[in-house]
Amino acid sequence: MSTQKFDQSQLDVAVVGGSIAGCATAIRFSQMGYRVAVFDKKAMNDQSHKRLCTHFIQPHSVPILAELGLSHLYEPDSSVLTKAVFVTPGGVVEGPGGYVPGPPDSYALNLERRVLDPALRAGVRAQGVQYLDATTVERIEEDDSGWILDTSNGTGSQRFRARLVVAADGRRSRLAKELGNATESHPNERAALFGYFSGIKTRPDNRSVFIMNERDLACVYPLVEGRTQLVLFADKARVEGWQGADGRLQEFLNYFDGLPNAPSMSDAVPETGLLGYSDYPSQIRQPVSGSIPFVGDAALSLDPMSGVGCGFALVSADLLARSFADRSLDKTDLGDGLAEYQKRFEDVILPHAEGICGDSLVDKNEASRRRMFQAISGNQELSQKYLALTGRMLMPGEFQRDLMRALMSRGAAGLKR
Ligand SMILES: Cc1cc2nc3c(=O)[nH]c(=O)nc-3n(C[C@H](O)[C@H](O)[C@H](O)COP(=O)(O)OP(=O)(O)OC[C@H]3O[C@@H](n4cnc5c(N)ncnc54)[C@H](O)[C@@H]3O)c2cc1C
Repeated sequence: MSTQKFDQSQLDVAVVGGSIAGCATAIRFSQMGYRVAVFDKKAMNDQSHKRLCTHFIQPHSVPILAELGLSHLYEPDSSVLTKAVFVTPGGVVEGPGGYVPGPPDSYALNLERRVLDPALRAGVRAQGVQYLDATTVERIEEDDSGWILDTSNGTGSQRFRARLVVAADGRRSRLAKELGNATESHPNERAALFGYFSGIKTRPDNRSVFIMNERDLACVYPLVEGRTQLVLFADKARVEGWQGADGRLQEFLNYFDGLPNAPSMSDAVPETGLLGYSDYPSQIRQPVSGSIPFVGDAALSLDPMSGVGCGFALVSADLLARSFADRSLDKTDLGDGLAEYQKRFEDVILPHAEGICGDSLVDKNEASRRRMFQAISGNQELSQKYLALTGRMLMPGEFQRDLMRALMSRGAAGLKR
């Protein structure tokens, strides 16, 4: 006998996926007065969080946390306010104060997922949104009055109705498959390894240090309670030979110890084993498919070396909510809202993807790379702009124009000499 129940009460918005993008979407639509529910297939307790994430939250997305009612996450017991410093083949790229251009005190956050994820779910519940964990959305179907969602939760199945369904179901999005929202994949030639440590002396100014070594990127992130996260994005061939849990950890620490501008690893005490992946291609999908908007990784999941996924999850949810700010969920308004979201996504988020996908390839011209970073590190304004670009506060096109100008004037100065 079927255990299927039909929930007659109509939802305004059903959000599929209850991680960063899903929770942010749910809070924003609930703040606008809609009746919202979030579905996540995982069973959640108070500590549940994503583990495969290095949680550097870029500065462009940090103010959104306050709009979600989560400004307590800026406090020093929750996160570390930080800014990037890049150690490059052409010199060190850093700048005083926070990120510019941007509001004063624009900083990135080292905000661990063990803190962020439960806070987002608490924010959802505080907003009066239903969070249905351990509930998989199996399929969706459209009829004249909106969407029907078939869900299962281990004990049976249940149907819900909603006027708008939002796909926040991550990189492997089931909704994308169901709706035929094709995945454009771009190769990533690096593997990643990371771990948490105590006993490492990081910079007193709490900067997060990104060290470019050959074609690898080694990252040192200060965390709360004096802990440190070390992350290595490396040419796959380099880490393939690091065998066995202990051997791998030792090779990993030796690698950091030998780097310029890295703190000493001599007193490093591992809190965890190493996590990581061997292959993680970037993936791009349409932000709107049929009449379903896609947010977060379900729309765009880029090379984690760029550290943009959490920020883009927050920003895409914000762009979607803004696109519906002065609209209802009636058919015409819905179409207009989705068209506006598609445009905002293409204008604000998508331009960052090309450079990030390009950076995932290892084989680059080293001499021109050195010249580029010499130009950036030797020019304070350009250094700040490079930091703003990586913090996604500046569009790539604007940075490219300024960089070309700087390279040309260096070339002209060289000719005069
Ligand atoms: C190694 C690594 C390091 C990273 N480091 C950073 C970093 O430093 N900074 C940064 O900004 N980003 C980073 N990222 C990226 C970041 O983790 C993701 O971009 C972010 O988690 C995306 O959030 P999301 O809500 O879109 O998707 P997800 O977190 O993937 O959530 C999707 C949710 O949907 C649920 N779901 C899926 N299907 C269904 C279904 N059918 N029914 C119900 N629920 C469903 C899942 O259970 C899941 O909870 C990193 C990623 C990796 C792999």
